[in-house]
Amino acid sequence: MPDTLPDDLPEVPPADINRVEPDADTTAGPHDVSMETIVELCKRRGIVFQSSEIYGGLRGAWDYGPLGVALKDNVKAAWRRAMVQLRDDVVPLDASILMHPRVWEASGHVEGFTDPLIECRNCNQRFRADHLELEADGTPGACPNCGARDWSHPKAFNLMFRTFVGPTEDTAAQVWLRPETAQAMFVDFATVQLTSRQKVPFGIAQIGKSFRNEITPRNFIFRVREFEQMEMEFFVRPGTDERWHDYWIAQRWNWYLGLGMRPENLRVRDHAKDELSHYSRGTVDVEYRFPFAWSELEGIANRGDFDLTRHSEYSGKDLSYFDAEREERYLPYVIEPAAGVDRTTLAFLCDAYREEQVTSQSGKTDRRVVLRLAHALAPVKVAVLPLSRNEALVPTAREVSALLKPRWAVQYDDAGSIGKRYRRQDEVGTPFCVTVDFETVESDRAVTVRDRDSMTQERVAIDRLTGYLEERLQF
Ligand code: ATP
Repeated sequence: MPDTLPDDLPEVPPADINRVEPDADTTAGPHDVSMETIVELCKRRGIVFQSSEIYGGLRGAWDYGPLGVALKDNVKAAWRRAMVQLRDDVVPLDASILMHPRVWEASGHVEGFTDPLIECRNCNQRFRADHLELEADGTPGACPNCGARDWSHPKAFNLMFRTFVGPTEDTAAQVWLRPETAQAMFVDFATVQLTSRQKVPFGIAQIGKSFRNEITPRNFIFRVREFEQMEMEFFVRPGTDERWHDYWIAQRWNWYLGLGMRPENLRVRDHAKDELSHYSRGTVDVEYRFPFAWSELEGIANRGDFDLTRHSEYSGKDLSYFDAEREERYLPYVIEPAAGVDRTTLAFLCDAYREEQVTSQSGKTDRRVVLRLAHALAPVKVAVLPLSRNEALVPTAREVSALLKPRWAVQYDDAGSIGKRYRRQDEVGTPFCVTVDFETVESDRAVTVRDRDSMTQERVAIDRLTGYLEERLQF
């Protein structure tokens, strides 16, 4: 063994990973919050709600309202920061959703991107056969809709949405809406490598929409038909792949914890051999303890050279890489951390949700709902609240808002009692509320800053306010 590591083998960062066996129990157990509560909060506060609601909605499609846009953007920004901005060895890509149809033949999706579809002959409802409860003999149990046990034979159902380019709807014009963002990173590998002058090991990262015609969309934004993914393909020298796989598992674990996710709600589950995708040399799922079950947030796969081999074959273009230092040519192996934006957003929402008993200054006990979101994720960082709509307060309150707006997402709210406004901000996770009162304008030019988590209040001079918040807003 050489006593120094080859320079393309990483140190695996320390991470206290809760790693479980492939067949680990998925029962969620008692949770701080139910899905109904989260769905209700999201709807009431315009975070996420049904798409096309006035027409009765469309299954598996959801809209993100003003606060939801900010929350989701913050999740993506945190990912981009960790995966691209803070690194020298990962570069971004924003590829087209519509790609040449041969891409999906090469990737194996046309042939194999299927789920087993099964139909209840009694009520004609369709289900994913692998999502049904099984009897002891391995056959599907009662229909979850009508209770009958009269099933069709399962058939393979391709999840890709198809559409047509141009005016003719024939097979020559048929294209697919991408079911994952990953393929563009393989197809564009050589161009990106060359133009960005990266050397293996390096990665290409992309955030974008993907589409899957899921048989049974469910659990709010957990399983939908149109969603966003955050994927990174990390190209490595064959033989270094296992170490890089461990490296990325640790990195990704630390990313979730760094954003405040409670470690007891997170685990890494190894895939069983028969669960591995056709391309995979090893996969783990990062799973979150959602109120409904432990479920996948992210897959981290060692894809070997499957993708570059296939795209070389199907396109006729050599996608091998010449390693000038080692003077060898090879097809890089790929480590892929692939996460879902919507699922991750839902997990952060569930994890942050708390209901607390609080005692007001007058001694009254009250219940408050608070989202203890990491500051980086909170949709609004600072709320500016004039004590009342009294005209004397408005100019200074507006001035404070204008002072903070260039730096942070600020919300100005003057509607209702101050207590109610605090609750409204707690409920969406705003870390700080700044109150402008009569003393502010009449005597001290200071404001009251209230902290979301401790609920303590401090008087801070307007001149010092930016610095005060800068010290406390951690991201
Ligand atoms: P599942 O087994 O739950 O269908 P998957 O293993 O097929 O997911 P991948 O192909 O590994 O998912 O996709 C990577 C990530 O994209 C998933 O971990 C998930 O976060 C997200 N994702 C996949 N399908 C959906 C969907 N229908 N709705 C929302 N997010 C999704």
